[in-house]
Amino acid sequence: MTKTPVALTLNAGSSSLKFALYDISGTPVELASGLVDSIGSTPRLKADFGAAAPSLKRDLTAAEARDHVSALNTALSELRQKFPNAKASVVGHRVVHGGPVYAEPVEITAEVLEELRRFSPFAPIHQPHNLAGVEAAMAAFPDALQVACFDTAFHRSHPKVNDVFALPREYYDKGVRRYGFHGLSYDYISGELKRLAPLVHDGRVIVAHLGNGASMCGMIGGHSIASTMGFTALDGLPMGTRTGQIDPGVIFYLVQQEGMSIDEVRQLFYSKSGLLGLSGLSNDMRTLEAAGTVEANEAIDYFVFRIRRELGGLAAALGGLDALVFCGGIGENSRLIRERVCEGMGWIGLELDRERNARNDTLISTEMSRARILVVPTNEELVIARAGTRLLESAA
Ligand code: AMP
Repeated sequence: MTKTPVALTLNAGSSSLKFALYDISGTPVELASGLVDSIGSTPRLKADFGAAAPSLKRDLTAAEARDHVSALNTALSELRQKFPNAKASVVGHRVVHGGPVYAEPVEITAEVLEELRRFSPFAPIHQPHNLAGVEAAMAAFPDALQVACFDTAFHRSHPKVNDVFALPREYYDKGVRRYGFHGLSYDYISGELKRLAPLVHDGRVIVAHLGNGASMCGMIGGHSIASTMGFTALDGLPMGTRTGQIDPGVIFYLVQQEGMSIDEVRQLFYSKSGLLGLSGLSNDMRTLEAAGTVEANEAIDYFVFRIRRELGGLAAALGGLDALVFCGGIGENSRLIRERVCEGMGWIGLELDRERNARNDTLISTEMSRARILVVPTNEELVIARAGTRLLESAA
């Protein structure tokens, strides 16, 4: 019996592993998707197998997800059971950093892997996990094409003025640049705009990817012009547990006056700040919206304030605004945040239709609004599966 060719996509976070399986006998069609989270502490597996089997939610033993490699093997054994007739022809990996080099997805050869390792110091929390996933997948599927899709690649089109920091020039040459992240999500949204609203796609668009990680990207004609994330995924908007933009002088103060080590500051900025730090309660927007405490409300106020500031700044960078697109868990689901971001934004051409917003419609601006406001669910996995399939076809 001939087996169905499938693409497996892997997206390794600092303590999680997302996976998805696509039938690629034609245009990629999702067969299954899932997540192992809390790897290394109290791991859990959630998976949806479509029509093939009931969905699954279970706690894993420490041994089943001690690290990303064992988590991958646990996920693979579930997928192999549910899809015995699938043959992985391509494995697509989300790789956070493609450095200054990669503006497109690439086949992962031994040389490419070596080069990607050299970018690890740029993304020490994510890149090593991404590459451990690549090596594990190479061992599990030695005959499959392995493809890297980069979070930074989409922004390689931005102009030099958005690529530099005002440091002596030698640091730019060493790779200290404004890379920008969430590129797979922006790539997907750009493609969806082309399909749903081609005129909007060709214009000046700001996409707000608001999830546990959050950033915004200004695009013209579907290409990145500027984004809120910079050298790392710490800059820009406040996030679930990350500070977002902060005066670097705070680091000197914490180290010199408070006696903190650099590792402690890193931990503070990445894991204890943002919505969690400001609210003292949670990194989760749903929890904060329901809490109604002074601190939770202040955390929401700050989140909204920074989005509005960046909106003005990005619109200036684009020379105007034709559309604002919301995506990510908060952008796709929180009518409160969308309403508060758009409140009093008539001066920039945005007028929200409250009823459309409350219904979670795709178009949530009024008919009179000069610029459109859209809600477009993002799909980073599908971008990876499509890229993998494309490279597979061109390799054939
Ligand atoms: P993501 O990282 O894209 O999965 O997004 C996660 C964030 O989306 C969390 O802060 C969730 O609380 C938030 N979120 C998901 N659904 C809702 C909702 N209905 N209302 C408000 N926030 C939501």
